[in-house]
Amino acid sequence: MDNFLRPQFTPKQKEELAFIQRAQTQAPVNIVGIAKLFGLGVWEDHKLPPGIAAKIFHDPKHGGRLGYSIVIRGQDSRQRKNFSVAHELAHYILHRDKFAGSSLIDDSFYDSGLGVFKEADANALAVDFLMPWHLILEYAHLDIAELAKKFDVPEGAMRLRLQDRPEAAKTPALAI
Ligand SMILES: [Zn+2]
Repeated sequence: MDNFLRPQFTPKQKEELAFIQRAQTQAPVNIVGIAKLFGLGVWEDHKLPPGIAAKIFHDPKHGGRLGYSIVIRGQDSRQRKNFSVAHELAHYILHRDKFAGSSLIDDSFYDSGLGVFKEADANALAVDFLMPWHLILEYAHLDIAELAKKFDVPEGAMRLRLQDRPEAAKTPALAI
């Protein structure tokens, strides 16, 4: 299927992404479980400073097999938390050389300072993690709001998913 395996990925990245694909067995995709199985710690924090959505940081003690933890904003909706975990997991796979031994902090707009192209890449991969086409197509009879509910993601994220293939849903895709 679709596959988020793109030609520019390294063999290591392809291997990591194949692991995630194998875990995308049903909707909603259990992204927290997948991130943990992948080897990262995942934590909620109710005291993240205002304007911070999530972060990923070097955490040798509690950071799972890989020694990194994802922290998400405790006050966010479950749907937004899912997107935050997916976005940080994508940063780990794509950009970990940029924050090795350190941290990456995303603001409310998922801007970590890595630049718009890297953020767009992380968002695109997060969308692939949470809303893989092989599962979306099983529910092609649903509209965007129903799909977002089924996949436990923000509606804006579902619109992002469908904007390149709007015929996959009854409701025309909207620009975010
Ligand atoms: Zn980011």
